[in-house]
Amino acid sequence: MKVAVFSTRSYDRKFLEIANQTANSPHQLEYFETKLNAKTAALAKGFPCVCIFVNDIANAETLKILAAQGTQLIALRCAGYNMIDMQVAHELGLKVVRVPAYSPYAVAEHAVGLVLMLNRKLNKAYNRVRDDNFTLDGLLGFDLHNSTVGVIGTGKIGTIFAKIMQGFGCHLLGYDLYPNDDFQRIPEAKYADLPELLAQSDIISLHCPLLPATHHLINPETIQQMKPGVMLINTSRGQLVDTRAVIDGIKGGKIGYVGLDVYEEEEELFFEDYSDSIIKDDTFQLLQSFQNVVITAHQAFFTKDALTAIAQTTIANISSWEQGTELTNEVQVPS
Ligand code: NAD
Repeated sequence: MKVAVFSTRSYDRKFLEIANQTANSPHQLEYFETKLNAKTAALAKGFPCVCIFVNDIANAETLKILAAQGTQLIALRCAGYNMIDMQVAHELGLKVVRVPAYSPYAVAEHAVGLVLMLNRKLNKAYNRVRDDNFTLDGLLGFDLHNSTVGVIGTGKIGTIFAKIMQGFGCHLLGYDLYPNDDFQRIPEAKYADLPELLAQSDIISLHCPLLPATHHLINPETIQQMKPGVMLINTSRGQLVDTRAVIDGIKGGKIGYVGLDVYEEEEELFFEDYSDSIIKDDTFQLLQSFQNVVITAHQAFFTKDALTAIAQTTIANISSWEQGTELTNEVQVPS
């Protein structure tokens, strides 16, 4: 089947090609570097399947163009589906499939990496030694042992993150609308309500999906309830966090450290090279100017294990639809 694959880089092609070659009936994959949006949707004319990633824009306008041009299946190369208007997709009769789990370890381990980098100031230490400066002033950290870590969203990634942090000797607090046994079995882990987690945690890590209910979960009111000097980690979705409120929290000293792999307005920036241009997003520039903020550009998923799993599941999802077998990874319209 002909598949228009948007937002592709060389690494996407490499792993998709390997997975496609081993499929029973390989597909005709055509790669586009550009993002999918209403302006680029015309590229997919005549393609029954369109394959997209986290920062593509599958809003009502784009979906209507795709459906009118003959697209019937949207294959997401990710777990989250906040970039697609599911209600409109449903009304247009478009099927949507996703990769519900690839490597939760990749994301959880990256979140731990951000914690260690911020706490022990590894970014500064690395540059200092490269500059033949062997002093320690300004690099003071704290023991993770005995600190309290709050995990918001204790699904696959949140629970793995919690298990790793338990290995450091941390106390764990979880907040989730649907508690799970795996998290509760971790020694030193217990569920708490959100205000308790916010008030008691030295480190707060976000692992819940972006939904209307979780949009700006971190806002002036929730920041106010946090411990002074708290470390905030977000590897989930940028819009969970009100960035301006976080900036105020940093400036006021309430927030001591921020580690982000995702950013509210990231679709304008991430996965692109602007090293030779001027970035016009003042909020992002201000945020990254603080010495206690570390930002990575949505790379938590980026391991060979995760890319292999993403490619294999994506190709399998497309094959299932083509062959009319059960679509186990179909995204249902949220009720
Ligand atoms: P998951 O579905 O296994 O877990 C999500 C958990 O959040 C569930 O336990 C769910 O009950 C909980 N939840 C839902 N609504 C909530 C709410 N209002 N308050 C608190 N908890 C709530 O998902 P996962 O695989 O662990 O992934 C978590 C998130 O990580 C994804 O939604 C995605 O946004 C993000 N992610 C980021 C990257 C990256 O590269 N940075 C990669 C993959 C996933």
